Amino acid sequence: NSFLARRVLTANPSATKAVTLKAKQLRDQGRDIITLSQGELDFDTPQPIREAARTAMDQGQTRYTEVAGSAELRQAVQHKFQSENGLNYSLDQIQVASGAKQILFNAFQATLNEGDEVLIPTPSWPSYPEMVRLASGEPRLLRCGENAGFKLTPEQLRAAINDNTKWLLLNNPANPSGALYTQSELRALGEVLQDYPQVWVIADEIYEHLRYDDQPFTSFAAAVPELSERTLTINGLSKAWAMTGWRVGYCAGPEPLIKALNLLQSQSTSHASSISQAAALSALKQPHTFITECVTELTRRRDLVVASIQQIPGLSCRVPQGAFYVFVNCQSLLGQVTAAGQTLDTDQDVALYLLEEADVAVVPGSAFDLPGYFRLSYGNALPQLEEAMRRISVACNNLV
Ligand code: PLP
Repeated sequence: NSFLARRVLTANPSATKAVTLKAKQLRDQGRDIITLSQGELDFDTPQPIREAARTAMDQGQTRYTEVAGSAELRQAVQHKFQSENGLNYSLDQIQVASGAKQILFNAFQATLNEGDEVLIPTPSWPSYPEMVRLASGEPRLLRCGENAGFKLTPEQLRAAINDNTKWLLLNNPANPSGALYTQSELRALGEVLQDYPQVWVIADEIYEHLRYDDQPFTSFAAAVPELSERTLTINGLSKAWAMTGWRVGYCAGPEPLIKALNLLQSQSTSHASSISQAAALSALKQPHTFITECVTELTRRRDLVVASIQQIPGLSCRVPQGAFYVFVNCQSLLGQVTAAGQTLDTDQDVALYLLEEADVAVVPGSAFDLPGYFRLSYGNALPQLEEAMRRISVACNNLV
């Protein structure tokens, strides 16, 4: 009989954090590990944003704010949705929280009863199913293969819906595949959902601004306005503004749902840190120069990684259109044998082999519910990526 609650005992820790931790342990032992397992960019938060936080502190913005976030910040979020996505929300339909992750967690806590199902197209961020389970819900993982561009099809969606289905979770652009849904693809999914009024949509659009090759972006709620009364749009500052550590995210949706999120927040964290809210306000008011430069640099990195992968025997990948990950197909390596005589049977074996033999940390695809792949992040600088790809190439060429 454990002192710990069942919900904790049956939950899995973050797989990406586990790989990153293992890499850190090896680095502490003196090994030169290149960590490509993180969901984080190597850029610093832009200077004006840091300055805004310093000013806020010095000017006494060190007290509690409104639960939903300061009115000024929610106005900036309102303006962002209006000007960038064509979405109109009142201030009561907007909440700021300690990261997009907190909003997802609270959204499931606020809406799921035992047995309620959440449809999660995979490969997906490993936290989604865990958060659903922590809220007593049932994650229904819908595998979207490489041939479908790792995207959910309307047929697949329709076949998965039943009376217990409560949410469809759409991550666009997607982690880990880099897949980007077009407006017409979103509409086709939305048309299916119009037949099922019990199903709501969470649109996790945290990677919105990290897109390549001038691909356009449509927010789900803008593509399918008919469903806006049952869509929760989630976004945040972490990825586009290199602000992962500040812990600020925001969302907009129907007022009763936002009210429920505010209730949970008021009885847990109260609100996002007042200093981080000041930084977020500044970020939302910045011109997009930083993001444009970021995307230019990330495009270079992506192109380098994709070109390298395509030259390594046994590996292949699609060209990601968003986020900053390459989801590498390593199925041809399975069954091959290392110089030490070990057979690589699974993607976990491949990831472990790359960590131990190439000193490169990647996350196995099974962590995202798609075995036979691994994810590498190009959040690291080019020289590091070049070295990592060289090492991966040597390690793969050493297999027989
Ligand atoms: N959603 C997805 C798909 C992510 O990959 C991440 C971070 O890895 C988040 C949400 C969390 O973002 P935040 O830092 O705002 O909590």
